[in-house]
Amino acid sequence: MPIKAPRGTYDILPPNSRNWQAMEQSLKEVAGLYGYQEIRTPIFEHTELFERGVGEGTDIVSKEMYTFFDKSGRSLTLRPEMTASCARALIEHSLHTGLLPVKWFYYGPMFRYDRPQSGRYRQFHQFGVEVFGSTSPMVDAEVLMMVVHMLQAIGLSEYRLHINSVGCPSCRESYRQALLAFIDPFSKELCPDCQQRVQQNPLRVLDCKEERCRQAIKGHPRLLDHLCSNCAEHYQRVCHTLLSHNICFEHDDQLVRGLDYYTNTAFEIHIPGIGAQSAVGGGGRYNGLVKAIEGPDLPGIGFALGMERLLLALEQQGTVNRGNGGVEVFVAVMEAQYEEEAVIILQQLRAAGISADKDYMDRKAKAQMKYADKSRAALVLFVGADEVKQGFVTVRNMIDKEQVAIPRVDLVPAITKLLHHNEEAQAQ
Ligand code: AMP
Repeated sequence: MPIKAPRGTYDILPPNSRNWQAMEQSLKEVAGLYGYQEIRTPIFEHTELFERGVGEGTDIVSKEMYTFFDKSGRSLTLRPEMTASCARALIEHSLHTGLLPVKWFYYGPMFRYDRPQSGRYRQFHQFGVEVFGSTSPMVDAEVLMMVVHMLQAIGLSEYRLHINSVGCPSCRESYRQALLAFIDPFSKELCPDCQQRVQQNPLRVLDCKEERCRQAIKGHPRLLDHLCSNCAEHYQRVCHTLLSHNICFEHDDQLVRGLDYYTNTAFEIHIPGIGAQSAVGGGGRYNGLVKAIEGPDLPGIGFALGMERLLLALEQQGTVNRGNGGVEVFVAVMEAQYEEEAVIILQQLRAAGISADKDYMDRKAKAQMKYADKSRAALVLFVGADEVKQGFVTVRNMIDKEQVAIPRVDLVPAITKLLHHNEEAQAQ
């Protein structure tokens, strides 16, 4: 049996890889506009970083981690997300003592052992941002405005932004009591998972997807009504800023982050119509995280977007940009003896920043033309006896099918001009 990619993983092949590159590029550009710089961290970390930084009570840590022992018996884990790694890097390099806030973006593969389905993989990719060092609600608003900017930049105009405030540990405790008192009379009707959650962390009952739990908790007390005055004001300022920038959002009482280090703003972005896994991104403030992994008491906020789901959404909205991914110029060699001349031309074009390729499969002239056409090169250059002897190249424009002879000495400027002309014609 031939070896296949492991379940829940997949290959990104050309020309589809172009769509990935284009999306990565757009997201990085927007992050740059807001003053974020890239951080790259190891793919694996010490297991306890995630146990503490993501939380042992979460599904990610309790069920989904790819954990292994290395040859010296250390427990390591393939990163299931990047926030904990960013916080670890911040502490390790004492960046909290430098210029604040620290504004980072990251991009890369994450690993979670979950049941694969459409939009859910075991190796998937996230683009995310983290800001450390500021408690200002204006940072929350900036992060939210940036996420919307990113969606627009990649061409996703139909999305739903859900937001809520989970307050601080003290207002959340008062809410926890109120929620427990509300759930207590019917806790036996909840799903087995939720019956456990009630004991450990009743807030997590609110985001259970089981229908019976959703029905049972209808009319539950709202976190919003339990916020202390500081947290209420923080949330109000975030909402006010979003409204004044015409950012559409829905307040969502059921959006909660169970762990203690999450504070204030929590949000999720959904794209209707991409299936059960409709969340393309999520994030929030986590003022207690850095301290929870033994760092200074430094606030933070961030989000992560799932690349696979963004691409799925783009495909469904019909806006995915299918670049041909081919080269601009194909150099067709009429007789094998002119191959070296063709290579000189190729290198000259490439050195001038023009992408170029030739045949490497001993194709006859006609088959080379077919190949050039299929690979959607914009121009085909012919190198044959007449051309080499008389010092010119024949250029066929594959868009308008016109053919011209160009003196060899004028090659680069003439090709540049033709490509430019084609681009303009296509843009019209
Ligand atoms: P989270 O880190 O769980 O808040 O997830 C942030 C985003 O990453 C989600 O909204 C998804 O778009 C994406 N994501 C999370 N888990 C997976 C997965 N197993 N497969 C594909 N995308 C995922």
